Amino acid sequence: MSQPDDATVSRPRRVALISGAARGIGAAIARRLAADGLSVGVVDLDEQGSARTTNAILERGGRAVAVTADVADEESAAAAVAEVSAALGPVTVLVNNAGILRDNLLFKMTVDDWDRVMSVHLRGAFLLTRAAQAHMVQAKWGRIVNLSSTSALGNRGQVNYAAAKAGMQGFTKTLALELGKFGVTANAIAPGFIETDMTQATAARLGMSFDDWRAAASRDIPVGRIGQPGDVAAAASFFCSEEAGFVSGQVLYVAGGPKD
Ligand code: NDP
Repeated sequence: MSQPDDATVSRPRRVALISGAARGIGAAIARRLAADGLSVGVVDLDEQGSARTTNAILERGGRAVAVTADVADEESAAAAVAEVSAALGPVTVLVNNAGILRDNLLFKMTVDDWDRVMSVHLRGAFLLTRAAQAHMVQAKWGRIVNLSSTSALGNRGQVNYAAAKAGMQGFTKTLALELGKFGVTANAIAPGFIETDMTQATAARLGMSFDDWRAAASRDIPVGRIGQPGDVAAAASFFCSEEAGFVSGQVLYVAGGPKD
């Protein structure tokens, strides 16, 4: 996202940490923010995937570092924020994107399926945000973007994921209230059907080919196609930009049509 000419000279190069950035939406956000001029910490469980994202950024002349971490683990999440800050500078942009699915109908869902989804999405976002907000408050500037989902509105077979993604919206609005006075904004992006490994896995679980599922889904989406990771990255780019400082506590559905 371009920045006003009068501001680019004096502003420091911002440092963003993106969780779950080894692939899919997180990788697209990492590449986009790097193209916007930010330094990027690529944080994921998947070391090889993180290296791929980081190398793609470095090859284009950007600044990036890969950090292997489990966002659901308290020490690991705090260490990730510390490592990215040590390598690139204080983290003042945070994108809580890491996510997993453990879909099942309620009566078949295990306690582990419930707990694991809550841990990665909600506990992970809480732990990273608590660690990163110290840098943002210190800098009197910050941007937090949390990945919600259209599933927050309810989705059969996803009682755990839907609850977590609705929780991300309440989390976001509360961050906006608490951190606004420090120049920190918090917003959520709620994507619809985006083509990634996550949705490929869902098609496989439903016993459908991805092409058939995509064609069926596209018929129900007003713009007539499913989304791509870059569609979500464009929204993240805006929320993380300098000029988005008066936009906070919002949930933006990136779903090819209206949702509420
Ligand atoms: P992917 O499954 O393609 O990628 C998710 C990434 O998160 C993986 O690299 C995964 O690593 C990583 N991850 C999972 N658990 C952890 C953890 N504990 N610590 C660190 N990293 C972890 O997902 P998408 O790109 O499709 O989704 C990204 C986000 O967007 C998620 O929050 C998802 O819920 C949300 N979303 C996606 C939609 C879609 O249609 N794709 C729609 C709506 C929301 P590993 O492979 O090692 O597990």
